[in-house]
Amino acid sequence: MKYINFFENKKVSKLCYGTLALSNLQNFDTIENKVFLLNYAYEQGINFFDTAELYDNYKILKEFIKDKDRDKICIASKSYAYDKKTAEYSVNKALKEMNTDYIDVFMLHEQDNGNNFLGHYEAVKRFMEYKEEGIIKHFGISTHRVEAVRDSIKFKEIEFIFPIINYKGIGIQDGTFEDMCAALKEAKEHAKFIMAMKIYGGGHLIGETKKAFDCINSLSFVDSIAVGMSTIEEIDANISYLENNELNINIINKIKKQKRRLVVEDYCIGCGKCARKCRQNALEIIDGKCVVDMEKCVLCSYCAGECKDFYIKIV
Ligand code: SF4
Ligand code: SF4
Repeated sequence: MKYINFFENKKVSKLCYGTLALSNLQNFDTIENKVFLLNYAYEQGINFFDTAELYDNYKILKEFIKDKDRDKICIASKSYAYDKKTAEYSVNKALKEMNTDYIDVFMLHEQDNGNNFLGHYEAVKRFMEYKEEGIIKHFGISTHRVEAVRDSIKFKEIEFIFPIINYKGIGIQDGTFEDMCAALKEAKEHAKFIMAMKIYGGGHLIGETKKAFDCINSLSFVDSIAVGMSTIEEIDANISYLENNELNINIINKIKKQKRRLVVEDYCIGCGKCARKCRQNALEIIDGKCVVDMEKCVLCSYCAGECKDFYIKIV
């Protein structure tokens, strides 16, 4: 396993386990089986895990870390906190539900640009206090937009950037792969830690995963790569890509068959909340029902969190 310096205080695996793939938004397996996968990844050397308040899976991480040396594990989380109260809610929830004393990196989820960030500044100030207390070790943003990466340079509070990037630019809302690369390169020059997300374009690049992985892995300004993994084969494959090992053909074929899609249940009442949330314009209300355009969907699950009746599922 390849390890990198996580700022000055930890060594983390370059491959980060994206646990959206283990949330109830995307995965209906038992907690035991999900913890089994995290343990399997850990045994292979992965010690970096990304989660979010939205994913509602802190209890899985709690089960996973309970018998581990916490200081050897790095956990990133994020929320939509916008003021002091919501920042406190988010941090306390994460600490309590994962039964941990600290979070390695806490991010503002789905940031658009500098103005959007300033709109959350009361929360940012509270996050900075948590940082001084050692409850948050580092602070950052996640984003699907180039302008958020560019604007992050203006804010010294942002140490960690978690952008969408893949070689076809799928899901980048305001530019191309090249635009995102240029912005990230500049952010790296300002000492930001960069963790890539959605390198397989939300499943669109499932037929060419090696090429997609190698492209992002070769970018000098990308520190780590988060990948959502929901099977042992996916874990093995991503580790092989990272280590440049030959991958068994049976594993390659199994992964190709694991293409996922978004499904809207027939009970949908067409309220449109999910469609308003989708920035990829992948959802539309037609004849009173939500309809997905899978060509545009990147399986981020943001819409699923909007449907209070859980009619949206990734299968
Ligand atoms: S939020 Fe739920 S009920 Fe409303 S349109 Fe979307 S899927 Fe249908
Ligand atoms: S339809 Fe839902 S999962 Fe797909 S891109 Fe839009 S918000 Fe994300």
